[in-house]
Amino acid sequence: MRSTSRNTSSATSIKWLRLRDIAESLVNNEFSVQIHASTLLDREIKAAVNVYDKSVDIAVNLAYAKTLKRVIDLLAHELAHVRLNTEDDNHPEFRKEFAYLQKEIALLYDAKGGA
Ligand SMILES: [Zn+2]
Repeated sequence: MRSTSRNTSSATSIKWLRLRDIAESLVNNEFSVQIHASTLLDREIKAAVNVYDKSVDIAVNLAYAKTLKRVIDLLAHELAHVRLNTEDDNHPEFRKEFAYLQKEIALLYDAKGGA
């Protein structure tokens, strides 16, 4: 593979712990966040989130977690649910929040070092 641009990076080179830390920072470190890569989810479910007490569990469907960009999109979507405290994809603030998180996660990912 010649390309090293992040848009073409494969799932194995995605820095999952870095994404976890970024997710925690985006919920103001009020929750511990875990990201679970799953082959269990139904094909039509790209990701899912569960909030319990001070824990946020995000499951990403490995069928969709092929590139960093896709993973960021999935995390941004699920974190928008957490930050807006809604299960509704049609919440009036959802699109705006999703777009903000997409941008922010990508920026923080590029800025951070580490695993
Ligand atoms: Zn949703």
